[in-house]
Amino acid sequence: MSASPSPARRGLRPGRLVASLLVTSALMAAPVLLAAAPALAATSPSIAAATATAAAEAATPLLGAKSRVLENGLTVVVVEDHRMPVVSHMVWYRVGAADEPARRSGIAHFLEHLMFKGTEQTSGDEFSRLIAENGGRDNAFTSYDYTAYYQNIAADRLDLVMRLEADRMTGLRLRPEDTKTELQVVIEERRSRTDNDPQTRFGEAYRAMVYAGHPYGRPVIGWPDELKTLDRDDAVAFYKAHYHPSAAIVVVAGDVRAEDVFRLAAETYGRIPDTAGFDEAKRVRPAPAPLVGDRRLVQDAAGVASPSWRRSWLVPRADVFGRDREEALDLMTFAMGGSSTSPLYRRLVVDEGVAVQAGAYYAGARDEGQLMVYAAPAPGVSITRLEAAVGRALADILKQGVAPDVLERARTRMLADAVYARDSVSSTANMVGAALATGETLERIETWPQRVAAITGDQGMEALRAVMGPDQGTATGVLLPEGLGVDDPAPAVAATAVTPPSSEGTVH
Ligand SMILES: [Zn+2]
Repeated sequence: MSASPSPARRGLRPGRLVASLLVTSALMAAPVLLAAAPALAATSPSIAAATATAAAEAATPLLGAKSRVLENGLTVVVVEDHRMPVVSHMVWYRVGAADEPARRSGIAHFLEHLMFKGTEQTSGDEFSRLIAENGGRDNAFTSYDYTAYYQNIAADRLDLVMRLEADRMTGLRLRPEDTKTELQVVIEERRSRTDNDPQTRFGEAYRAMVYAGHPYGRPVIGWPDELKTLDRDDAVAFYKAHYHPSAAIVVVAGDVRAEDVFRLAAETYGRIPDTAGFDEAKRVRPAPAPLVGDRRLVQDAAGVASPSWRRSWLVPRADVFGRDREEALDLMTFAMGGSSTSPLYRRLVVDEGVAVQAGAYYAGARDEGQLMVYAAPAPGVSITRLEAAVGRALADILKQGVAPDVLERARTRMLADAVYARDSVSSTANMVGAALATGETLERIETWPQRVAAITGDQGMEALRAVMGPDQGTATGVLLPEGLGVDDPAPAVAATAVTPPSSEGTVH
């Protein structure tokens, strides 16, 4: 519920912050490599050895998760992890900002806030108070394709949190005065994180341009003019339409036995009748307007210290593009621009010295994803000159591919990042829930390492060329300090002050 942006997630991406250096969601792509090798987690001296280890580990299921669907349609997934006596419990509703009615942007996130306002059985803030009194932490977040609620708590308190979550799945009681007060909270949240921050405001406008026509183009927090008109009726209607057992996925990771969790789930969630009947096939959103030529947004704004450049390509839905092919795209994008050892960074920052930052990431989603390349000019370099240099670098990569050792390093790092993510029960639950809520299957999560281990350079380049080839349309964004033009040399700023654009998609 607090305002803390993090990148959009889809598929097997653990929740890595894009903002962490150079990037990327490719990092996030690494799922759940869970069961993977400790050898990978350490700084591996040899990529070849680590890759071999990864391949060997890849043969075992990533998580060994168990799942069950209750009679009312609610899905329960359990990942046992007995290293610590804790549990992460999450409820994922398969509804998000991209499912909002016309002109009601922000209602999914507003309802998320209101879910903490009490039910018939627990009044006011009793929910969070009970969790805290029992030594736990709880929160929630809203994205385009899902809304999730979670508690991290001692494993022996799982029955408490399951009772509480089951209670508010259909028992929410909204008092008119609470909705009014909370709307002001959300409006203030928007003001502080977006309206007062030129980078975020630009990112919002850029996203609207990239996804023109698709609801991914609207901000999760809502457009200001629509947000301020939301009311209790909107919240109740959205809640009744979308919060019910068959729309929910409960993920429990930690020191529990699967059979115990299934029994508890049946005793709590299992008692709720399913009235609406969730149907994934009915979640049809309008397609984004195809990118033709180069759609462009250039803005100079007060409060911007240094110029930045970004370009996006739309990636077709995974079921159209191909799920394996999407993974190849993810790996190759990461190889191309996921770190300071990637060719994009090496060439633009280290060799040519025209940029202080350069990278690429792929942000997948349930519907169309986007592949973004970004860069920030070195002092004295104009945006026009930078853009030409990026264009040449990309053309060379598309023509020649990336070196085999670059690809192997990316693969190893992707697998290793998933191992780190597996170290925490909450990030494990996060990966599973986000993947399932955006159309992945448990089976594909379990076998992800095998597929990543098997992706060839040719497959990666084929996917990359399909998305970024010369025939493909693009969207380009340029953000400049006030008064600066695209042909003006960039002012000197500390490179550390330059943060890569986030694939902004989640609001707490
Ligand atoms: Zn919020």
